[in-house]
Amino acid sequence: MIPISRPAMGEPEAQAARRAILSGWTTQGPEVQAFEEAFARAVGAPYACAVSSCTTALHLALLVVGVRPGDEVIVPSHSFIATANAVRYCGATPVFIDIEPHSWNLDPVLVERAVTPRTRAMIAVHQMGLPCDLRRLVAVARRFELPIVEDAACAAGSQILWNGQWQTIGRPHGDIACFSFHPRKVISTGDGGMLTTARDDWMRQLRRLRQHGMSVSDATRHGAKEVVFEHYPTVGFNYRMTDIQAAVGREQLERLPGLVQERRLLAQRYDTLLQQVPRLGRPQEPPWARSNWQSYCVRLPAGVAQRQVMQAMLDAGVATRRGIMCSHREAAYASQPLPHPLPHSEAAQDGCVLLPLYAGMTTDEQAHVVASLGQACTR
Ligand SMILES: *Cc1c(COP(=O)(O)O)cnc(C)c1O
Repeated sequence: MIPISRPAMGEPEAQAARRAILSGWTTQGPEVQAFEEAFARAVGAPYACAVSSCTTALHLALLVVGVRPGDEVIVPSHSFIATANAVRYCGATPVFIDIEPHSWNLDPVLVERAVTPRTRAMIAVHQMGLPCDLRRLVAVARRFELPIVEDAACAAGSQILWNGQWQTIGRPHGDIACFSFHPRKVISTGDGGMLTTARDDWMRQLRRLRQHGMSVSDATRHGAKEVVFEHYPTVGFNYRMTDIQAAVGREQLERLPGLVQERRLLAQRYDTLLQQVPRLGRPQEPPWARSNWQSYCVRLPAGVAQRQVMQAMLDAGVATRRGIMCSHREAAYASQPLPHPLPHSEAAQDGCVLLPLYAGMTTDEQAHVVASLGQACTR
């Protein structure tokens, strides 16, 4: 069986977890701090804050940029449901905007048209690791003085051409970027997330909110030479990453450049092999983006049934997933009005298939995936 993905973890990660466990400090502490510093360096960000997941990262990001009950936040429907849920956690309404069909990312023209007096922020997703058109989205956000939160859940190690320079996603190019370390992403800590920003006032708020709103961290109080009484000026959350996770994350981060390089070669090889499948839509990077290929998504030829293709491939020993979900089609969002049509989002969910791609994937495995897809499409 060829799986859809496979975490790239081994002995170094196991050793790191052991080190943290035997250190006597397992919750947020020195490993988390070291992971944050390394992550900030890796993406070129001034500050990084580790949390329990990208979902909790998105929640905190929206809170610190000022999203409050009754506000509207512009988001793509075509994303994992956590993107929209984070808006709801703030008591705000996600306003679903359609994607550009060939990038699976927010269409900046439609975003601009959707801004209302109640719009408070925008979440720009780098779907499947392919950077969204940040240059245009940031320009729209600046024109309306809206903060822009990047949902970079899938995009660790992806790059964008910015002022003539290749830069890593997460500096951030918007106002705050949120990453995921779920096992389905390129690097993992089991579960986990990271926020990056250039604003030190926001970073202080983020660090406080992730730890119950507490005025000092556990590590500071533990290391203090004088008695410290903490305060709770605001209602916070327990969104901490553990030191066990962070120790694993440090090892994963070391691997990231190599993993991205390998995934880019695998994607290139798919691009060549898939030319033999007639009328199949292959994913393309715009000249200003370098994807980490967290997912490899193809568009089926018109008239070919998605479920039958996926079943035929499964019968041939190849796991696939359908196109990225549309949040507006789920019961959790069915009751809210849909002011903007979402034809490209729905077509992408119904007409795309994600193919297996993981570190260590062999040429034979890729050839088998392509052969089974070709047979399934021409049946
Ligand atoms: C995976 C994912 C999330 C959620 O990440 P978690 O770390 O599992 O909370 C959010 N947004 C997008 C686009 C994702 O792919």
